[in-house]
Amino acid sequence: MSVLVYAENTDGKFKKPVYEVVSYAKAIADSLNTSLAAVSIGDVDEADLAALGSYGASTVLHVTSEQLRQFVNQAYASVIAAAADKLSADVVVISNSFSGKGLAPRVAAKLNAGLADGAVELPQVDGGKLTVKKTAFSGKAFAITELTSAKKVITLNPNAFELRETGGSAQVEAFQPTVAQGDLATVIEDIVRTTDKVTLPDAEIVVSAGRGLKGPENWHIVEELAEALGAALACSKPVSDAGWRPHSEHVGQTGIAVSPNLYIAIGISGAIQHLAGVSSSKTIVVINKDPEAPFFKVADYGIVGDAFEVVPKLTAAIKARKG
Ligand code: FAD
Repeated sequence: MSVLVYAENTDGKFKKPVYEVVSYAKAIADSLNTSLAAVSIGDVDEADLAALGSYGASTVLHVTSEQLRQFVNQAYASVIAAAADKLSADVVVISNSFSGKGLAPRVAAKLNAGLADGAVELPQVDGGKLTVKKTAFSGKAFAITELTSAKKVITLNPNAFELRETGGSAQVEAFQPTVAQGDLATVIEDIVRTTDKVTLPDAEIVVSAGRGLKGPENWHIVEELAEALGAALACSKPVSDAGWRPHSEHVGQTGIAVSPNLYIAIGISGAIQHLAGVSSSKTIVVINKDPEAPFFKVADYGIVGDAFEVVPKLTAAIKARKG
């Protein structure tokens, strides 16, 4: 029995959600009195793989193959399931990232495992049962899910668990499972990036604005604040519907779900459909001229004021602090 974590890389590098998921999986392994192993697919430096040990992984299975150079859900899920079989892992933990959302149900189906997606805290362990608190209904509620099957798959929301450095270095082993031809039926020929800025799902800080900004010509105040903070830009649905901003920035129930460390909402009323995609952000700051705006009910910090006065002052203050 052991716990396995999938360490997803982006262009050969691990990002913060990987260390979070390793820390989280290590805490589960500790409560089950077992060890933690990781599986990594693709070209990643050996030193970076071994560094997963500093968050608690004792072994890293490293899979490199020409066939797996591009991310293909079915093939990657087969590899993760094969790694779980090899290590007799009972619990597999995956980040609830874009790719994790596609991988986890496939891995669970292959292992005949129960799945809890979008965990927000450590599970309670009771014998062979894990009770997992997770987001439900696009983040509008929490569900308490009991995983009673022998094998279990859990995905962890980004920013839901703090990094825990344990020290140490993982042993890296090459692993070459056979991938069935059927799992390689999708071939990704090329990936064309549409932006070199911080992407929304990866962003630790998101600056988001709504109809209170009055029109696209005023977005420079939002962009300047985002730039000062190194944040990604987001917007409410009517803003992208009106063509003021691209649809790729639309967050909420029908847009992208984000869970950054800091979400700054400017001139957004806080409709339930908007909150559905942002309410698991760690800290929410709301700037709105209407003190009755519903967004203030979920805000950690609220500024009642005119965005056109408040935002430039905030940007200037942040720039001044940075020197
Ligand atoms: P408004 O509701 O018009 O609010 C503008 C806010 O700006 C107000 O609170 C106002 O007080 C404030 N304001 C005005 N001027 C200023 C100023 N100068 N300074 C500061 N504040 C100011 N919406 C989403 O965002 N995401 C979704 O995914 C989504 N999905 C939906 C799905 C369905 C099925 C439906 C029916 C709706 C959905 N919506 C979604 C729409 C949602 O219900 C709201 O209509 C929308 O979020 C409102 O956008 P808003 O807050 O930008 O605009």
